[in-house]
Amino acid sequence: MDRRKDRKKRVLVTGGAGFIGSHLVDRLIELGHEVTCVDNLLTGSESNFAHLAGHPRFTFLRHDICDPLFIEVDEIFNLASPASPPHYQRDPIETTKTSVLGSLNVLGLAKRHGCKVLQASTSEVYGDPTVDPRPETYWGNVNPVGPRACYDEGKRCAESLFFDYRRQHGLEIKVARIFNTYGPRMAPDDGRVVSNFIVQALLGDPITIYGDGNQTRAFCYIDDMVDGLLRLMETGPEEAGPINLGNPTAFSIRELAERVIALTGSRSVLEYRDLPQDDPRQRRPDIGRAIATLGWTPAVGLEEGLARTIAHYREILVSRRRTA
Ligand code: NAD
Ligand code: UDP
Ligand code: UDP
Repeated sequence: MDRRKDRKKRVLVTGGAGFIGSHLVDRLIELGHEVTCVDNLLTGSESNFAHLAGHPRFTFLRHDICDPLFIEVDEIFNLASPASPPHYQRDPIETTKTSVLGSLNVLGLAKRHGCKVLQASTSEVYGDPTVDPRPETYWGNVNPVGPRACYDEGKRCAESLFFDYRRQHGLEIKVARIFNTYGPRMAPDDGRVVSNFIVQALLGDPITIYGDGNQTRAFCYIDDMVDGLLRLMETGPEEAGPINLGNPTAFSIRELAERVIALTGSRSVLEYRDLPQDDPRQRRPDIGRAIATLGWTPAVGLEEGLARTIAHYREILVSRRRTA
């Protein structure tokens, strides 16, 4: 029996003030662990963990992961990195540094403690793929000199660093390739499609569709993603990944807009804008490996996940109106 499962641990979550990180922090606290969140608040917010203020097992450290970090930990989830295209393209050099130098520091920290470390990688390592759905064995089709390269190539380099630390130093690593994830606590001005469409629909603003809206994405609800990340961390040393985590059901961006309009009862109209450069035409994970090794499949469908997310944004917009 793996006794590590029962032990309460000191867990570091880099990027823990962000969307996925803050939900992960909540679950780890619920599980009884001692959690340190390291975040420079580039795209995250203290409001995402305000409910944990004063909690005896929660510590927040404002720190840029590009700088070395010397703390005592038993396990590390490395999520620090801007994730939305407008955010990661605002300071592309910083984005690459965060993936590369940030991963190096986290790996150095893990090596010093001999502890497990999980990397939040991304479907973007596949670029604009020629294979759909894509398995982990697909090596990718990435433009290394385009505006998305800072994120895609940074994350690819991070993956290679993780595997080199495994081969060279015997480190226990886990690499999750996360596909589009959504839910409460995505910053309303984050720029990603789900938050944009919901906020636009609730405000009655035009819904901005980039391109013709026929490009596809598969959307995973946050609770499912956190569950997948925790399961991956619990696997034995032989399982390093990479493992795709995401919802395998794809929708076109136009369909997503129509669903958001229907669920919010909005009168917003659709407004078509230019498609950003290198925007992938299709994206959908093959999650066969996650099913086989983690026994994991997403449980929350798009309709239910959108309804929960809409309820969250309604609350935010109402409280903003009250304080305005
Ligand atoms: P997010 O922007 O909400 O959170 C990222 C967090 O990292 C923020 O709190 C930000 O302040 C922090 N951060 C950024 N640079 C940092 C630095 N140099 N030092 C310390 N902290 C830093 O994004 P998210 O959606 O929660 O994404 C979390 C992770 O998951 C990212 O690594 C992202 O690449 C990955 N991911 C997310 C998705 C998705 O759909 N949400 C998809 C694929 C991969
Ligand atoms: N590092 C860190 N915290 C630690 C140990 C290392 O931030 O507890 C950083 C260290 O400063 C270095 C990186 O992690 O920049 C890689 O460390 P490693 O020991 O693997 O390599 P080296 O220091 O030999 O370059
Ligand atoms: N998108 C859109 N309108 C928006 C924001 C995004 O049509 O207001 C499109 C974007 O061009 C992409 C898809 O929605 O085709 C998903 O974009 P997102 O930024 O959420 O993440 P990506 O999958 O591109 O990383």
